[in-house]
Amino acid sequence: MSLDDDAREYHREEPPGKIEISTTKSTSTQRDLSLAYSPGVAAPCRDIAEDPEYAYEYTAKGNLVGVVSDGSAVLGLGDIGVQASKPVMEGKGVLFKRFADIDVFDVEIEPEDVDEFVNIVSAMEPTFGGINLEDIKAPECFEIESRLRDEMDIPVFHDDQHGTAIISGAALLNALDVVDKEMDEVRVTFAGAGAAATATARFYLSLGVRPNNIVMCDIDGVLTDERREAGELNAQNSEFARDVEADTLAEAMEGADVFVGLSAGGIVSREMVASMAEDPILFAMANPDPEIGYEAAKEARDDTVVMATGRSDYPNQVNNVLGFPFIFRGALDARATEINEEMKVAAAEALAELARKDVPDAVVKAYGDQPLQFGPEYVIPKPLDTRVLFDVSAAVARAAMESGVARQEIDLDTYRERLEA
Ligand code: NAP
Ligand code: MG
Repeated sequence: MSLDDDAREYHREEPPGKIEISTTKSTSTQRDLSLAYSPGVAAPCRDIAEDPEYAYEYTAKGNLVGVVSDGSAVLGLGDIGVQASKPVMEGKGVLFKRFADIDVFDVEIEPEDVDEFVNIVSAMEPTFGGINLEDIKAPECFEIESRLRDEMDIPVFHDDQHGTAIISGAALLNALDVVDKEMDEVRVTFAGAGAAATATARFYLSLGVRPNNIVMCDIDGVLTDERREAGELNAQNSEFARDVEADTLAEAMEGADVFVGLSAGGIVSREMVASMAEDPILFAMANPDPEIGYEAAKEARDDTVVMATGRSDYPNQVNNVLGFPFIFRGALDARATEINEEMKVAAAEALAELARKDVPDAVVKAYGDQPLQFGPEYVIPKPLDTRVLFDVSAAVARAAMESGVARQEIDLDTYRERLEA
């Protein structure tokens, strides 16, 4: 059977879909039921009415994330409509549960406009401990996220923007170490100037790349001051317009230390890779086909090439599942009011640090016995490495406390032990 048919069968099997609700308390006696519901339930209700923080003690709020989508930019499928996005959103819930034991309600909505979107989601604040915005098209996704972050007192995180930024940021931290270059010295060329590329470039600034060392290209070439003045750029990417000579992506790649592709498959040639600086770093992350293939990029050079892609069949897969479950885990457990830049940087640094440690045999086995040792072919950890949960969640919770957005102080040693249990 084909993958498509297997997937239909997988989803159709009784009960349909991939998730269900289950109860967490005993419900076997009359007394249990009078505790779970009326009249017993009134006591926790009264406590919460007096102090809303009690919601974290008496309800599932603190472990419940809303995965919210309007179905307007689903995977590589595009605007397939809100109902058709539900298998993906249920799937996101599966990943939250599998990797970080976080429960998810998937919420598929079709608002008229950004205002209505913001109103609907912000009205859901009492239900959730956090909101993961998913597969919402640009440019609306930027305004929606930024307004919801302002209006809501729980973390709001648009994974399509920040996930890639954080995971590839971790890869960048380590790749620079491998080739012995400094964050504040490298020249970085982006192919793509859309949602993922602009969010990633902004995050690289947080990691210490110099603004003037970033050059960005869209389908018409380099984002230059001239093009900005001619009104060719949008509100999101115009901050990356530069006063440079280069006009084309090929010109922009000459001498660059790092290439970041978040554009389209196959647009980078071997010659372009050959023109880059010594020991180049290439993150070719267009899905499903990278800007240039792994073999071609390696063959184009005799020196070290650190290559990452979005694919699972090559080394260094930039996969969002390395981020969102653990970032939310740490944010929820610290009862953070937001996921801020400090927490994102902490997540990237924790991922980078973990990749430098020896990998347990069980993890090596789970990945078909390929050698997983820090170096060009292994700059980011593997999702099935359970240490990602302990390290990243704890780092994010710590950053939440240190940056003053945690509503709960937690002891990090005890917290780690609890995660490891
Ligand atoms: P998007 O908002 O539609 O942006 C795409 C950008 O690529 C646009 O700026 C577009 O330029 C540019 N582009 C298209 N063809 C190009 C070409 N031939 N040369 C240079 N630039 C070109 O899409 P997105 O959400 O940012 O995603 C972009 C790509 O990244 C997709 O392939 C997606 O699958 C991939 N992605 C991968 C991951 C991962 O983790 N591996 C995560 C997120 C996204 P114009 O604006 O001029 O059209
Ligand atoms: Mg997505």
